[in-house]
Amino acid sequence: MTGSEDPVVVLVEDDPNIASLVDMYLRQEGYRVYQAADGKTGLDRLKQHRPKAVILDIGLAGDLDGIQICRELRATSDIPIIMLTARDSEVDRVLGLELGADDYVTKPFSPRELVARIRAVLRRTDGAPQAALPAVLEVGDVEVDIARREVRLGGNPVPITAREFDLLQYLAENLGLALSRRQLLDGVWGYDWVGDERTVDVHVLQLRKKLGDALNITTVRGVGYRLD
Ligand code: CA
Repeated sequence: MTGSEDPVVVLVEDDPNIASLVDMYLRQEGYRVYQAADGKTGLDRLKQHRPKAVILDIGLAGDLDGIQICRELRATSDIPIIMLTARDSEVDRVLGLELGADDYVTKPFSPRELVARIRAVLRRTDGAPQAALPAVLEVGDVEVDIARREVRLGGNPVPITAREFDLLQYLAENLGLALSRRQLLDGVWGYDWVGDERTVDVHVLQLRKKLGDALNITTVRGVGYRLD
């Protein structure tokens, strides 16, 4: 059940078992997958298919490993990159300034987890498949324009950071539901995010400041927040 509208993902992985498993899961989840078993083919696929995201195994046989491909991509593009690592010790390097991948999973991983990571990364970068959601969410007088990543109040754009936008979009997509700080962190910051849950409070405060009475975010005691 894939079609030309499905988001494209390029998968660069030289282990055929892992590649076919990941491929199968991604297709089930509505992604179109182009595989490559080595770095050079991977770069060709990237040029041909202009994917929404790349999944890169670090350890690849051949001239180009995942680290080199990541570095090469980052020099020219901010495409979401998820690395497959064999060791936790590689993680700092992968996510750090040196490489700047968006996320990683450590082998052995569950395909479900990988799919969740891809969704989170694509959500953050505005490429997620938004099944049947309107392009503009209206919450009272506030318009959350997902396609343009713009928030308008009474028709006028409100200056907002990328993270504040993501948070507002997530709240608006879950209108009327009490969401815990952990849920908000997972949904907006991503599963890999490590830090203080009060980060959520700070961003909610900013949204309240910027949108004032127009935005009805309720603090749900002992839980988190709800947008009505
Ligand atoms: Ca490998």
